[in-house]
Amino acid sequence: MELQFNEGERAFREEVRAFLLDNIPERIRQAVYEERPLPRDWMIEAQQILNSAGYAVPHWPIEWGGRVWSPVKRAILAQEIDRNSVPKPLPFNVTLIGPIIAAFGTEDQKQRFLPGIANLDIWFCQGFSEPNAGSDLASLKMSAIREGDHYRVNGRKIWTTYAHEADWIFCLVRTSREERKQQGISFLLIDLETPGVEVSPIQSIDGFHHLNEVQFDDAIVPAENLVGEEGKGWDYARYLLGQERTSMGNVGFSRRRLERSRALAGEAAGERSETLLGDADFLRRQTWAEIRLKALEITQMRVVASAPVQGADPKTSILKTEGGELLQEAADLLLDTMGPEALTAGFPAGIGPEEFYGIDERSGILSAYFSSRKYSIFGGSNEIQRNILAGSVLRLGRKR
Ligand SMILES: Cc1cc2nc3c(=O)[nH]c(=O)nc-3n(C[C@H](O)[C@H](O)[C@H](O)COP(=O)(O)OP(=O)(O)OC[C@H]3O[C@@H](n4cnc5c(N)ncnc54)[C@H](O)[C@@H]3O)c2cc1C
Repeated sequence: MELQFNEGERAFREEVRAFLLDNIPERIRQAVYEERPLPRDWMIEAQQILNSAGYAVPHWPIEWGGRVWSPVKRAILAQEIDRNSVPKPLPFNVTLIGPIIAAFGTEDQKQRFLPGIANLDIWFCQGFSEPNAGSDLASLKMSAIREGDHYRVNGRKIWTTYAHEADWIFCLVRTSREERKQQGISFLLIDLETPGVEVSPIQSIDGFHHLNEVQFDDAIVPAENLVGEEGKGWDYARYLLGQERTSMGNVGFSRRRLERSRALAGEAAGERSETLLGDADFLRRQTWAEIRLKALEITQMRVVASAPVQGADPKTSILKTEGGELLQEAADLLLDTMGPEALTAGFPAGIGPEEFYGIDERSGILSAYFSSRKYSIFGGSNEIQRNILAGSVLRLGRKR
């Protein structure tokens, strides 16, 4: 596919790469390369550097920091960010809530939130999932009852990534009970400092704390924090589906992992003089993953260049499924480069990111392996994506 980039696109890629290598501190890029969790202030620092160059929100409307760039250019930027081990701009901010407020928010909400969202001065987390509403999100129960100039909010959100780091949460809430469960859902912005809101940690299998439960007990939320119209929250959430497709396949991230697994497998481990790359089975798996990566890259560029589709786009389901499974395979290969050490290394449950930095440079691999399980679950599990593909491409389950 690179052969098809025109001269301007190739020059743009060089410009982006040079900026990232010159401006993002080496300590941050090294930590991302070694797949270690980043402290909050490093994530903010990286996003602010990207934002200063117009690289954090190029897909936003121009008056809020967007750029007049083709989707291909935006895809090049996303790939270079990943490939050069630069932390991605926080997706909850730049891909989810920012575009929603820009499209449906009031002028006051835009002024109040958008600059801070782009610059990560305000950190948002996503409160969609509930204990009994994941794949079937429309079953959500968290209630927001209007009382004059505010809503009284009660309920529970779960699997809320970074709620413990965030300042605000955007939630889908039920403001009325209607016949169709997709109706009566509204979109509310809630300050996490609000009395009655409590964030509790969920330890994940990678040994770290990224996930949380968020409990709301009679939390009073100003009515001005409603985004768009009451009862239209489902439409706004659906508006996001398939919107920003330039980074969905995680092509740059998989490439980085596969380059690393090839490099590590080329080193002789411990007492052994032969390398893992000399092992026919490993070499076959590594090479096959690299071929899949090339195919994914071409598919991603085809998707990027095609017209967006309203609602669930089967093309994004292909990218999400294959992109996630490839990241998982790359993590498997990386784990193999650790050899038997992977069995005994363990991971440092319960310790903070700072202490983790002192440990062997490969220790991030084990937690990355466990962490990679999530790619086939969040943002619509692979089974749900395959249902979309079966319905839209194969026309299964549809009346003819
Ligand atoms: C690491 C991580 C981070 C997350 N971060 C967030 C976040 O920040 N904010 C947020 O709101 N949510 C977040 N989530 C939640 C995520 O969106 C849900 O986990 C996901 O939607 C699946 O829902 P569930 O866990 O309730 O599983 P369920 O919906 O109960 O599914 C269980 C299993 O059944 C399968 N299944 C369900 N329905 C069907 C069907 N119709 N056909 C075939 N198979 C089906 C699923 O694929 C899955 O394998 C996160 C999840 C993870 C793992």
